[in-house]
Amino acid sequence: MVRDVVIVGAGPAGISAAVYLQRVGYSPLVFEKDRVGGLLMNANLVENYPGFPEGIGGTELVDLFSEHLKSQGVEIKHSEVTEVKQEKGHFTVVTPDGDTESRIVLITIGTKPKEAGIPGENELKGTRLFYEVREIPERDEKDFIIIGGGDAAFDYALNLSKGAGKVDIVCRSTSPSCISLLKERVQQAPNITFHKETSSESLSEADGKVKLSCKTPEGEKEFDADYVLIACGRESRWLDVKGLESVSSIGNMTRTTVRGLFVAGDVKQGDHRQVGIAVGDGVQAAMSIADYLERGEEK
Ligand SMILES: Cc1cc2nc3c(=O)[nH]c(=O)nc-3n(C[C@H](O)[C@H](O)[C@H](O)COP(=O)(O)OP(=O)(O)OC[C@H]3O[C@@H](n4cnc5c(N)ncnc54)[C@H](O)[C@@H]3O)c2cc1C
Repeated sequence: MVRDVVIVGAGPAGISAAVYLQRVGYSPLVFEKDRVGGLLMNANLVENYPGFPEGIGGTELVDLFSEHLKSQGVEIKHSEVTEVKQEKGHFTVVTPDGDTESRIVLITIGTKPKEAGIPGENELKGTRLFYEVREIPERDEKDFIIIGGGDAAFDYALNLSKGAGKVDIVCRSTSPSCISLLKERVQQAPNITFHKETSSESLSEADGKVKLSCKTPEGEKEFDADYVLIACGRESRWLDVKGLESVSSIGNMTRTTVRGLFVAGDVKQGDHRQVGIAVGDGVQAAMSIADYLERGEEK
């Protein structure tokens, strides 16, 4: 059986596209390798998504998005898409659980964190060192080091500071690069300290703690904590799926250089990564896909 639409990724972009397509009568199949909701699971407080005047926690918004998907009866398979192949006039979507054939594929796989490139980072990965707040196994009364100085680093610090011992944000720049609202909230939090001009040199583990050695204008400095979180930027996951290497999006649109292959959300947005943009982009892609399925042409 060749399906009409397969969506790869169930973050905000994939979810909004799936809900639209389901409502107009095309039953998309959504592949999600992890949990429904995507990166939004990490957000401390989303205050810029319309409809929630008091703001809403990332996990609460994800719960609502998931409920919406369920209420529409969207089909989800929890499996990682490893390859998208074009053959016999349609696509074959490859996962470890088998192949699915589809006329249209929409890629909404978002971004992945960049590594900090600090000696010792690899050895601590998955035990004492993480790249997303939701991966940290325990939080209560634990101490944290966050490496980075942008919105994500400050959002993570505010999130972790609830119930934590102390949180140290370590940043090599002279000032943070986050929005001023987050900066003010961090300044007011009694258990968060921001350390500027502090360059991370090496990581190690001793006596059940992570040790971070740094260089500062005043000399060497060492931090210790239960866990370290790296927030040094993100990059598109586009090249993680085989078959997409030579494909690119057309301008800022949801179409790509391959007919029938669409893209939406953070995976294509560059520096502007927001839930509202991902949701709008997902709907835009879904409308183009519906046109294509109806009339056989891309808009
Ligand atoms: C700490 C933090 C705070 C934030 N706060 C805000 C905020 O306050 N306001 C705001 O507007 N935005 C915020 N954002 C940004 C927002 O979360 C993202 O812009 C949004 O989640 C992007 O949606 P997306 O669907 O494009 O991608 P993602 O949310 O990244 O979803 C992609 C999905 O695809 C899945 N996937 C990836 N590869 C595969 C594969 N090969 N096979 C199957 N599935 C795959 C992933 O598991 C994931 O579920 C925040 C982000 C972070 C990190």
